[in-house]
Amino acid sequence: DTLTTAAYTDRLGATHTLPDPEAEARVRADDRGHVFHSWSAQALIDPLPVAAGEGSTFWDYQGNAFLDFSSQLVNLNLGHQHPDLVRAIQEQASRLATIQPAMANDVRGELARRIAEVAPGDLNKVFFTNGGADANENAVRMARAVTGKRKVLAMYRSYHGNTTTAITLTGDPRRWTNEPGDGSVAHFFGPYAYRSPFHSSSAEEEGQRALEHLEQVIVLEGASTIAAIIIESIVGTNGILVPPPGYLQGVRDLCDKYGIVFIADEVMVGFGRVGEWFAVDRFGVTPDLITFAKGVNSGYVPLGGVVISDRIAAHFDTVAFQGGLTYSGHPLACAAGVATFEVFERDGILERVRDLGSRVVEPRLKEMLERHPSVGEIRGAGLFWAIELVRSKETREPLVPFNASGADAAPMGALAAACKKAGVWPFTHFNRLHVAPPLVISEEELRRGLDVIDRALDVADEYT
Ligand code: PLP
Repeated sequence: DTLTTAAYTDRLGATHTLPDPEAEARVRADDRGHVFHSWSAQALIDPLPVAAGEGSTFWDYQGNAFLDFSSQLVNLNLGHQHPDLVRAIQEQASRLATIQPAMANDVRGELARRIAEVAPGDLNKVFFTNGGADANENAVRMARAVTGKRKVLAMYRSYHGNTTTAITLTGDPRRWTNEPGDGSVAHFFGPYAYRSPFHSSSAEEEGQRALEHLEQVIVLEGASTIAAIIIESIVGTNGILVPPPGYLQGVRDLCDKYGIVFIADEVMVGFGRVGEWFAVDRFGVTPDLITFAKGVNSGYVPLGGVVISDRIAAHFDTVAFQGGLTYSGHPLACAAGVATFEVFERDGILERVRDLGSRVVEPRLKEMLERHPSVGEIRGAGLFWAIELVRSKETREPLVPFNASGADAAPMGALAAACKKAGVWPFTHFNRLHVAPPLVISEEELRRGLDVIDRALDVADEYT
């Protein structure tokens, strides 16, 4: 397959040419006329009409190429139009496009088995959902059924999805307009050494104090009322916060001590983002439930799920699990998931993520930290990094205020625009720019994209 800005042939053999202003006008008119977009004031947005994608690049209808440094919504782990995934979906569609969840199906079973094989400890069963929010929703439901308790503790600075319980668990402003939502949720502070809520002076101390705080919250909220603690193994949208060594193990120990189910939300970090199947593998910790979505099949067909420990699964041996979705374990989605496993294993994706992260991204971001007055901190792992931007390295005042919008957010808008103008599509959130390209990105593309970000940071420097 070829894709240039002049012409390309798609996976079914049809030829398209770019630029294509007529198609662009049609797409824009239909979109602006009739598509109601997520999280947006509808009249204030101008969604980019996208014509095509291949690997780490996508094209608009003008023929402009963008290196996808946000992997769409950090889901496109194997890049656009991966031939193995496209073929698997096409073959499955021609064989059996859909089958309801109460029946057994080959790809659904194979994917569940392969997930269980790479999941830690005794997490051996998989409940499939349509995405991440409903995975968390069902994990919480399982924890409540098993413990007979209702309350769930979740972190400030977290995102767990946009259904009722998932958005209540969320510890960022997206929760506010949806409150009260699920009535049985309380929040706690997780470790964030750069802006420590505990005034600690090292990562180790931060982890320790965060655990002491969590235990206080458990005691004051009442261990006898708490069904589960849910944590993003590495906080994603809210800052790429890698927990200090010992923190997740400490959470595991507190859960054991107080009879609480430990749910690890791996929707964003699972399936290779940090060079492991699951981010908990970095810490050698086994939660009771792991939720996943996104990278399981790069979002080619919506899919998520809950990986369940034997102990929790056994509770439902003779008691029905009260939950289900028409499209649970959809064959097209599962076929893309099985193909994902094959690509990961054949192409050594986990190894290449670890290699590119430590050899290319980390040193390059360290240079940016040295060089740019606006870069306060860089942190991350694998192909998942945050550049935290500040007005002053000394005071650590954020480049834009927490929850900034409109004119307040202008410096980040200018930074994102500078990246896009130079052909990199970045992920920005409040005062951070995240580096999260597809895991199949070539070293040359990765270096080129990082060069673009480095130059674009000059724009942020002007606000320091
Ligand atoms: N959990 C985490 C950590 C996420 O990053 C997201 C989405 O970004 C979700 C849950 C929600 O997933 P979905 O949008 O598929 O419902």
